[in-house]
Amino acid sequence: MTDLHMTIDGSRAPTTSTFDVINPATGQVFAQAPDCTPAQLDQAMAAAQAAYRTWHRDEKLRCELLLMASEAVLAHTERLAPLLVREQGKPLANARQEFSSAATWLRYYAELEVPREIVQDDAAGYAEVFRRPLGVVAAITPWNFPISLAMWKIAPALRAGNTMVLKPSPYTPLTTLALGELLQEIFPAGVLNIVTGLDPLGEMITAHPTPRKISFTGSTATGKHVMRSAASDLKRVTLELGGNDPAIVLDDADPAIIAEGLFWGAFANSGQICAAVKRVYVHESICAEVVDVLAELAGKVRIGDGMLSTTQIGPLNNKAQFDLVTQLVEDAAHRGARVAAGGAALLGDGYLFRPTVLSDLDDGVRVVDEEQFGPVLPVVSYRTVDDAVERANNSRYGLTASVWSSDPERAALVGLRLETGQVSINAHMGGVRASLPFGGAKWSGVGVENGPWGLASFSETQVITGPSRI
Ligand code: NAD
Repeated sequence: MTDLHMTIDGSRAPTTSTFDVINPATGQVFAQAPDCTPAQLDQAMAAAQAAYRTWHRDEKLRCELLLMASEAVLAHTERLAPLLVREQGKPLANARQEFSSAATWLRYYAELEVPREIVQDDAAGYAEVFRRPLGVVAAITPWNFPISLAMWKIAPALRAGNTMVLKPSPYTPLTTLALGELLQEIFPAGVLNIVTGLDPLGEMITAHPTPRKISFTGSTATGKHVMRSAASDLKRVTLELGGNDPAIVLDDADPAIIAEGLFWGAFANSGQICAAVKRVYVHESICAEVVDVLAELAGKVRIGDGMLSTTQIGPLNNKAQFDLVTQLVEDAAHRGARVAAGGAALLGDGYLFRPTVLSDLDDGVRVVDEEQFGPVLPVVSYRTVDDAVERANNSRYGLTASVWSSDPERAALVGLRLETGQVSINAHMGGVRASLPFGGAKWSGVGVENGPWGLASFSETQVITGPSRI
């Protein structure tokens, strides 16, 4: 496993020093990843800069190569998915989904029609708005979806004509390196450079003079550092940050019908999804019943090593996250919450935590107010819809939300009152698609990814005017 190298200028960069990569199912080091030096980062930026000169000039070629990349990702899924399981922890079936989603994003951007924006075309003159690529862009990604979230950046950035230097999380560097090795066979040298290293490498990237944009996905705290650092030379930023996403269950919802959707909205990927349900507000008339159905599902779900075919929920990715989740559950229990399911880690050396449902708690308890990013769902009872909406909005975060009801129109009217980038009705994360804008309000982010909006975020407008059509 130690033979994965950084991809700089289309070739394998020599490894001078390395850092440990841990398998979250065992808590043991299982591989080493290359630690990028400042000189290697300069080399990656210079390679991207050189490649930009020709890459941005041939859109047809870019679309063809994105399609080839989509096919290559699909063709190599079976080889690469187990590596993702070993460094990230997720079940193998979900690791495969990351690759199929990455292939979908590549195909979407290869095939996206970008209409011309002609504002004037008459006897008096001509005016058209063009989108110019930015040049070299940098991407920094987190550990929860290393492949699909990297592709939310790679596909639109390259389609728009930019070249890229991408740094994955130090917890999950290996699959992204393997992706880089695969794609270096397709893209010209220097178009996509993957560098790995610890967090200070992220700071070196945001402070580097070459990239004109930083596209960042990660925590709100780091996002603020990125924005501050980028401001010094006015780099553009897109920030996809943390969330504390509310679900509101109205009094007319049927607990048995909504249970599965609500449960997986909170517990998929062990709850390590920025847009997972992180707190659920349930009308007091059905709250006990909703707690019971969620607790029953939590008790039945199979947790374990993601490589086992029976596993539905894998471990938390790393010790820091495991410790945070443990602390938040202990704090809630200490503050009087009832542990309706789970409540503790599974014995063993890895980072497995039992799916946990908490009830009899309120806003003001840490697990309700903070982003737990783990397999823990606090269920909070409310009396009036106005109260539920106010409490859902009473957060620094505003990523996504969902409303559950037997009357979808009623639910949608409640949804429109929520201060979030997306709202799903009778589902959670229903809007996570290549074609729809994804981004957060308030502290959940700046800007959006995906769709034509995501493509536009990797460009700047240029107006051409003249006496006649160009
Ligand atoms: P993190 O902020 O710790 O790290 C994210 C990336 O930033 C990593 O690659 C890290 O090495 C790098 N980094 C760390 N310090 C840096 C610095 N000073 N400058 C530049 N880069 C730096 O986040 P994480 O723990 O990897 O991810 C979990 C968080 O990400 C959660 O809060 C989650 O909600 C959020 N997230 C958001 C989205 C979204 O689309 N909104 C998606 C996934 C995850």
